[in-house]
Amino acid sequence: MKIGIIGAGQLGRMLALAGYPLGLRFVFLDQSPEAPGGQVGRIVPGAFDDPAKLAELAAAVDVVTFDVENVPVEAVESIAAERPFLPPVAALGASQDRLHEKTLFRSLKIPTAPFAPVDSREDLTRAVEAIGLPGVLKTRRLGYDGRGQRVLRKRSELDAAFAQLGGTPLIYEGFVDFSCEVSLIGVRSTRGATCFYPLSMNVHEDGILRYSVAPYRRASLEKQAHTYMRRLLRHLDYAGVLTIEFFVKRGQLIANEMAPRVHNSGHWTIEGAETSQFENHLRAILGLPLGSSAPVGHSAMVNFIGDMPQLEQALRIPGMHFHSYGKEARPKRKLGHATVVAPSAAARDRALQRLLRLLKSGRPRS
Ligand code: AMP
Repeated sequence: MKIGIIGAGQLGRMLALAGYPLGLRFVFLDQSPEAPGGQVGRIVPGAFDDPAKLAELAAAVDVVTFDVENVPVEAVESIAAERPFLPPVAALGASQDRLHEKTLFRSLKIPTAPFAPVDSREDLTRAVEAIGLPGVLKTRRLGYDGRGQRVLRKRSELDAAFAQLGGTPLIYEGFVDFSCEVSLIGVRSTRGATCFYPLSMNVHEDGILRYSVAPYRRASLEKQAHTYMRRLLRHLDYAGVLTIEFFVKRGQLIANEMAPRVHNSGHWTIEGAETSQFENHLRAILGLPLGSSAPVGHSAMVNFIGDMPQLEQALRIPGMHFHSYGKEARPKRKLGHATVVAPSAAARDRALQRLLRLLKSGRPRS
């Protein structure tokens, strides 16, 4: 079987690495011939919205999936008519626009922060009056890793924020004073089988995931998260991995966003779970039996953002698993990650602290 992946980023690369032992082979579509997927498969060079290139990819494979969300829905609808395209186009569409996503959550009774669309400076004033300050003004589309958003704390900041982000459809959301952030990764196969990974607790810096800790065992949160995940999987007639990111406030979950794909907060599953999110995504879209999502220890995953620690120093940490994506170093760019898996939560936390110290004190390396 050949799998086509739109996008050859690190997620595509990890999908391919998980698929090779199953006998799967991979072809990517990406504008950059240097993209990480090229290390483990052939890249068809081209834009995600180029119909000829999408058709070339589809013709070369049995199933098409994606590792990025900014794939134009109109462009992939034609290939979805010819080849299995999973997760479904509708899930991709819903996730691309923060307003549609939050409206979908609301319609499924999944709690969200209060929100309002903002298409003009007057809309922003009205939204701030209705929702209050502080709040977050975000671009509805193409925002990721904290890009395209501004926290507003005072009325005097509205003009500058609108001047910076306006000109494209926006959403204003109430600021959630959360105690922590968690994510749930769910899997549903084309045969309807489902499994859910344990919750992961995620710490962001400047809107970018810094590290995740899993399993984060909180029975009441897990129960809420499973209920919301089931609603989304059913509603979207989903196949593949689906991620929901939540804020936790006073023991309740508030959904922030969903991603219809494997997710950075699930990288720990490569070494920290019986079956990784990447392998289960492939199993799910191929209608194969899903693997166990049970954790095999206590994991922490740390992103390497903008620079990499020295390999030899990092490998001295017990339980360390190192992933370099082979990308050129650039500020705010995810260049790699490391997961430590330990027999106890205490040992995991010690290893995590060592790793974080290494990043702070380590000489930047590419
Ligand atoms: P997002 O791009 O929506 O995933 O936002 C990136 C990060 O910014 C989140 O993980 C939060 O840490 C923070 N953030 C986003 N929206 C809000 C909000 N409404 N209230 C508080 N923090 C937020």
